[in-house]
Amino acid sequence: MHRPPLKHCRSCGTAVIYRLPDDGDTRQRAVCPACHTVNYENPLNVVGTVPVWGTEGEQVLLCKRNIEPRRGKWTLPAGFMEMDETTAEGAARETDEEAGAQFEMQGLFSVMNVVRVGQVHLYYRARLLSTEFKPGYETMEARLFTEAEIPWDELAFKTVKETLEYYFADRRKGSFGMHVADIA
Ligand SMILES: [Zn+2]
Repeated sequence: MHRPPLKHCRSCGTAVIYRLPDDGDTRQRAVCPACHTVNYENPLNVVGTVPVWGTEGEQVLLCKRNIEPRRGKWTLPAGFMEMDETTAEGAARETDEEAGAQFEMQGLFSVMNVVRVGQVHLYYRARLLSTEFKPGYETMEARLFTEAEIPWDELAFKTVKETLEYYFADRRKGSFGMHVADIA
């Protein structure tokens, strides 16, 4: 899922040319031949939560995706951060939208660079306050899984798998850290 190269200038819509800008920048950019805008492209943030239930957080809430990509696969609630919110606000919004869950936000848990697609994924831990879920249109089904029940081969994204592995490993240790990883 590479982000395709930019075709048109964001300022005026003219077809861009990838070249070194005239300001000494050392990276090829989408430069507009008409209005001379340098259209910078930078990674996007994906924010989400690891919502857990039970006195020892033994169950994790996963959502079955109702949208592409990876329709029918299971994911932690997450999505692209919006302009008017913090990372924690975005993670909470996605959890509300995708699972309709009642929860309390906890600490930042994982930060993963997905360099191949130009994304940074951030997951916060969240404590569920109820087991009633009202998933939105993006989700076919939202339900709780114990570690043994997690559909490891049916997870939508590698960052979800990695974050769940960190979660259950930390849970066994009895203390939750903050994990940073680079996803190939
Ligand atoms: Zn332009």
